[in-house]
Amino acid sequence: MERIVLASNNKHKIQEFKEILKNYEILSLNDIQFFDEIEETGETFEENSLIKAQTIHDYLKKQHQGMMVVSDDSGLCCESLEGSPGVYSARYAGNHNNQANRDKLRKELQGKDPKAAFVCCITLIKPDGDVSQFVGSTSGRIIDEERGDTSFGYDCIFLSDDLNKTFGEATEEEKNSVSHRSRAIQKLVDAL
Ligand code: IMP
Repeated sequence: MERIVLASNNKHKIQEFKEILKNYEILSLNDIQFFDEIEETGETFEENSLIKAQTIHDYLKKQHQGMMVVSDDSGLCCESLEGSPGVYSARYAGNHNNQANRDKLRKELQGKDPKAAFVCCITLIKPDGDVSQFVGSTSGRIIDEERGDTSFGYDCIFLSDDLNKTFGEATEEEKNSVSHRSRAIQKLVDAL
């Protein structure tokens, strides 16, 4: 089975990639013994995704391990907030706290259009250094109450246009059928 290193240790993401890329063995950063912090200094999902994939590609190259590397960067964008929280989705309220991030977002959106979209950019770097990127998005709106599973980011306040329920209420399968990440992963699969 061909192996792909996913430049992440996020359990939710690893699971989503495993579900969709069933024909590949997915390795996490822990699996390849990479324990450094990768600083996401970019201003776009494309830049941050590239920074992560390039860091791991260079790390593997130094160890003469020729493996494909895939990374993703994702977040929530609200038109009425000029694209915020965007690349700052994970640290919107300053401290990587899901509840605080959701509270801040709902406060910022008071009196404004609650339209929102999750966006995901995936970067693939082949062992020869060839880079490609794939973007997926999914639309919805931010609601006032929290519905469903509150453990992942903005899921429980994102009412999906496609599912007519929040991502927190959706089953894994339902979310995967419309999510920004699975749409980007599908484009990646088509390219592989
Ligand atoms: P990343 O790990 O840098 O891609 O950060 C993405 C952040 O955006 C996460 O920490 C969440 O706050 C948010 N996010 C991205 N995708 C999702 C999703 O599918 N559900 C809920 N929140 C998400």
